[in-house]
Amino acid sequence: MALQHNTPEPSQPDDRIRGWCPGAWRPMASGDGLIVRVRPRLARLSHRQLHGLCQAARHCGNGLIDLTNRANLQLRGVSDATLAPLLERLAELDLLDDSPELEQRRNLLLTPDWQRDDDSHRLALALLDRLHELPPLPAKMGIAIDAGPAPLLHRESADFRIERGASGHLLLRADGRPRGTPLDSVDAAIDALLRLAHWFVASGGEQARRMRHHPAPLPDWAAEGEAPRTGRPPLALGPHALGMVCGLPFGQIEAAHLASLLADTPVPAVRVTPWRRLLLEGIHALPTGGGLLSDGTDPLLRVHACTGAPRCARATVETRQLARQLAPRVKGSLHVSGCSKGCACPTTTDVCLTGRTGHYDIAYDARADDAPQVMHLSAADVLSHFGDT
Ligand code: SF4
Repeated sequence: MALQHNTPEPSQPDDRIRGWCPGAWRPMASGDGLIVRVRPRLARLSHRQLHGLCQAARHCGNGLIDLTNRANLQLRGVSDATLAPLLERLAELDLLDDSPELEQRRNLLLTPDWQRDDDSHRLALALLDRLHELPPLPAKMGIAIDAGPAPLLHRESADFRIERGASGHLLLRADGRPRGTPLDSVDAAIDALLRLAHWFVASGGEQARRMRHHPAPLPDWAAEGEAPRTGRPPLALGPHALGMVCGLPFGQIEAAHLASLLADTPVPAVRVTPWRRLLLEGIHALPTGGGLLSDGTDPLLRVHACTGAPRCARATVETRQLARQLAPRVKGSLHVSGCSKGCACPTTTDVCLTGRTGHYDIAYDARADDAPQVMHLSAADVLSHFGDT
């Protein structure tokens, strides 16, 4: 099919710092090419969509697929020449919004364990039908729909969320407020969500950019009457009522590898979670030999590492092999970053290694761009440094 829009101009590498989210319509330039982020509807890809995405990643990107902490997928290493064919393919797979504006408005995080016709599913469908009624919001603002028996996305960032209140009602809650507004029905909840988004804009919220920073008191009709139910932990690795949950080391997988797993295993659909985990629907055992993580205590689950050298042009050090070696030696969370940009983890970790001029610097309780405590180590020095911990 022919796209109705011109191929977008990629945004520049510092856009992440200025605080917006890349998408498919608005790819972001990075050290290893363009990043194209795909937002699957309902956080779910059919077998056909995932297979097609694997092919697209191999033909138009560098062959890798990342999971993001917004339950999206991203392809890296896309070039100016392959961007247009990639968007064509995404459109054919129904993985591309009709316009950049709709894509930006569809910044929706949906609880990954929704079931057909439950409240979360009906809320998400109702919101998708009415996306055009949302006002343009600052680009990082997002909505969580999390109306299962208790919140599952309570640790994930969202400016407005619809969740389950202590009384069992649906609850609309603004970020930064411990209590929300109870609502009687799916339609009432979506009406109130849209109204609150319009109130945010009308009350000057765009200057604050995020709901939690907006100082205006909520309007009278959005009474902070009820607390949400106590949150649940993320989906555990292993068997689930809908299939099997598995983790991906570093939140990334080779597209060719994923395609071969799909060819061998009859997975009807895959759900994407914000925790670098996939829920493979309709199966009772994970494919063997796939490199998928199935043990919730695996040290790799605590580790972040970007692509690093040689794949990323900005990197001066290798990252993932060292991260694998360090994982069992480091207590707490670990980030190995090829440079100070810190693509793999924007927040602090207990131990953070950053590549600079071909060597590693170590910082504790730090981000990749923080000042290091130990500097200029080789990979062997780093392993030796953590050898006894
Ligand atoms: S953090 Fe890693 S992937 Fe990001 S630009 Fe630096 S080296 Fe490349």
